[in-house]
Order: sequence, then C-alpha cells, then structure tokens
Amino acid sequence: MNRFLAVFFPPKCPYCSKAIRYDQTECIVCRAGFPKMPRIALLPTGEICIAPFTYNTTVRKAMLEYKFRGRKFNSESFASALAYAINTVYTKDMTFEVITCVPMSSERKKVRGFNQSELIAKNAARILGKPFEQLLYRDKGAAVQHELSYHERINNKDNTFHAIHPEKIKGRKILLIDDIMTSGMTLSACCGVLKENGADRILCSAVAMHKGNDSGRCFRFR
Ligand SMILES: [Zn+2]
Repeated sequence: MNRFLAVFFPPKCPYCSKAIRYDQTECIVCRAGFPKMPRIALLPTGEICIAPFTYNTTVRKAMLEYKFRGRKFNSESFASALAYAINTVYTKDMTFEVITCVPMSSERKKVRGFNQSELIAKNAARILGKPFEQLLYRDKGAAVQHELSYHERINNKDNTFHAIHPEKIKGRKILLIDDIMTSGMTLSACCGVLKENGADRILCSAVAMHKGNDSGRCFRFR
C-alpha cells in the first residue's frame, strides 16, 4: 500500500483484521500460520492445480470481504501466498511463460466492478515476474459453476469459455489462475479451450481449495 494513503487508511490483515504496516500484506502471526506445503489436486481433465490454502473459515472470510466488500487489498496477500505455493512445488515440468485467469462475463464484471481472479493473477504475475495476458472470455449470462449442482455442472458443456486470440495460446506454456477451486470443473473447462487452441502446457492454481471435493473427480496428493 502507498505510504501516504496508509496514514489515513491503515491497512488491515485480511485474516485477523489487525492493523498492519503499509508494506505488509498480512500480519506476521497470520503469515507464520500459512501452510508450509500447498495442496495439489488433479483436475478432471488431467491438469494439476496448486493452492496455498484450504478453503477454511478464515480464508473464506477474507475471500468474501475481497469479493463483495471492496477489500481489494486482500488480493495482495492471496497472490503472495499463491506465488509461494507455485515456487514451492515448481519443477522443470511446470515451467510457464504467461499467466492468465478464469474470465468473468462482461455482464457480471459490470455488476461486481472487477474480476477477482484477474486481480489476483495480475498481482501474482508481478511477483513471479511473468506477463499477465487475458487469453479467454466467458459468454454473457453463462451460468456460474458453483451455483449449479454437480449433475448440472458435468452437463454444462455449452461452450461457456472461448479464446480471445487463438494465436496467443498456440504453443505456449500457461499458468491459469482462479480464486477458489471447488470441483475443478471451471478450471477444467478453461483448460479444455486452451488445449483446443494448441496450448503446449497448462498449470493451474487457485488461492484456496475446498477440503473434500464435491465431485469425487479430483483427489489430493497430500
Ligand atoms: Zn493477521
């Protein structure tokens, strides 16, 4: 946060709401409590997804305040935790050259004012030193995956996601970022479009992953 603004609007820790210094993204106590090992899941389409957090009460509160109460500052901490998780499990097989995010329909973006995954992805791109590019778009009025039942989700193959410029996907190694992974269906749908358009390799990452999974189709390595 800007030092001048911090005098008038002291930043707060996204997880415990204690006041923090302008150059911190969360308090020292919460940072020390971050899981040392990220969670890894296999998506229905075969890609790997890495997340620093389990979607527990604390992370949920920070995420809801971020998405619905204008606490955009929380994205700095989410991105920092996500970048740490990526670097922890990073191997030669996971190299990527561009970072993108799960898109939001233009309609929905207008209502919320911003795409929560995009802001996290842009902050993560800055930390990881890779470019952010919006590679996909989402149809207007497309059903939101988490509002559907599992049965509806697997049958929701109505081509919700599309490539903006297919030539920007072809042959590239891509890191795809979302805010929360529930069943992995949304990330899988995006992976499908990226693969159809010739992506060389896709690695997925979310800030948090649900503890179990409601589909039974993805599983935890740890
Ligand atoms: Zn804290």
